[in-house]
Amino acid sequence: MLEIYNSLTRFKETFKPLHEGHVGMYVCGPTVYGDAHLGHARPAITFDVLYRYLLHLGYKVRYVRNITDVGHLEHDADEGEDKIAKKARLEQLEPMEVVQYYTNRYHRDMAALNVLPPSIEPHASGHIIEQIAFVQKILDRGYAYVSNGSVYMDVEKYAKDYPYGKLSGRNLHDIIAETRELDGQAEKRHSYDFALWKKASPEHIMHWPSPWSEGFPGWHMECSTMGTKYLGEQFDIHGGGLDLIFPHHEAEIAQSCAALGHESVHYWMHNNMITIAGKKMGKSYNNFITLEQFFSGEHPLLSKPFGPMVIRFFILQAHYRSTVDFSSEALEAAEKGLLRMQEAYQRLLKVQGDKVQSTKGIDISGLRTRCAQAMDDDLNTPFVIAALFDSAKAINTIPDGKATISEADLKELREVWKTYAIDILGLRLEEQGDGDESQRKAFHGAIDLLLGIRLEAKKNKDWGTSDKIRNELTALGFQIKDTKDGFEWSI
Ligand code: ZN
Repeated sequence: MLEIYNSLTRFKETFKPLHEGHVGMYVCGPTVYGDAHLGHARPAITFDVLYRYLLHLGYKVRYVRNITDVGHLEHDADEGEDKIAKKARLEQLEPMEVVQYYTNRYHRDMAALNVLPPSIEPHASGHIIEQIAFVQKILDRGYAYVSNGSVYMDVEKYAKDYPYGKLSGRNLHDIIAETRELDGQAEKRHSYDFALWKKASPEHIMHWPSPWSEGFPGWHMECSTMGTKYLGEQFDIHGGGLDLIFPHHEAEIAQSCAALGHESVHYWMHNNMITIAGKKMGKSYNNFITLEQFFSGEHPLLSKPFGPMVIRFFILQAHYRSTVDFSSEALEAAEKGLLRMQEAYQRLLKVQGDKVQSTKGIDISGLRTRCAQAMDDDLNTPFVIAALFDSAKAINTIPDGKATISEADLKELREVWKTYAIDILGLRLEEQGDGDESQRKAFHGAIDLLLGIRLEAKKNKDWGTSDKIRNELTALGFQIKDTKDGFEWSI
């Protein structure tokens, strides 16, 4: 029986991959029947940072993140209908059109957040044969039963031989108390038995032939199957959101033990949840904000649009195991923080190393050590950010001559920033020109100059020139207001 770790403190010492130099990592991906929201961004970014960190440490990583595109009944239990199938029925689309549409949009959003693509992105619908074989193994080992064309895990029998609930710290009694009355209750021996294969009802449009019925696999089955198919019967890391521990990951452990006789996962890692103004995100609260809405600012809870790097920075400012509470104010604060980082990084790229003077006022090896220790301590990204902020403060004093830096040290400082801010935290710091003082000055100067010419034209009653400047600037997104003393403008 493998041990279970829920955190990786002193990562470099305690993390022992099953195969030296190689890491197999599986993360539960999205169910693709709607746009990605803040709740999707957190696991994607958390495990992206882990992936980047493992690569930085020199591991060869096979990162598998699945696409759930069949049989997700969990939250729509009353209707007993797959959400993708439901969307397809309502919009008169082929289910795979729904899947492709939202998969493409998910990829677009992940690319915007600078989340690296996984090594393999398997779809549940592409692994039906493997899932049927996995269910058959569990039946052969006597831990499942067939009932009315569906196959259920025999949880009571399983719990006699294996510690069911070990990941979530639950026992069977707790689980009975928590189990809701779900679809197919009558055919199960116990309420806590979960479906490995479900017979499709006549209106269910996504179904496949199997030895038991025309139907579809239970939700938990895909991750057991695809994880072991691509990473081996045992692999290193399995990640996902905290809300997946039970029932999803507990069920995965049970399926692996039941089919293979042992657990598959060596380290479990879970990111905590995001709340919105203290409330859980959920349909009933009507507080889902999609990433697209964040980027465009089109949601009543948002004061303005927020760029993808602000979202990424906001998430990384908290440790992945702490909760994060979203509010527009918190994002505005994150935006300011990110801007400070951008300014410092851009200054760092522009500053000239001093050939004569030695380095003064900048602690480069201290920065490297702090960043390395923070990442080693269970991916403590807020500590990395704090160290970079301290460094930013010092960098900002170089132009005033309060700090000086030698050429060799400048090279090293740039390298430390690139390693931790760009490569590991995955922040794009070079992009926005906002941080560039001289660029901003030149831009403001040019607009003031144009509006000055317009003012002159107005005085001379040259309405053609005056209107042309006003209209074309307005078309570019400027707001121009004439005042007593001249003009004001904003974007
Ligand atoms: Zn999963």
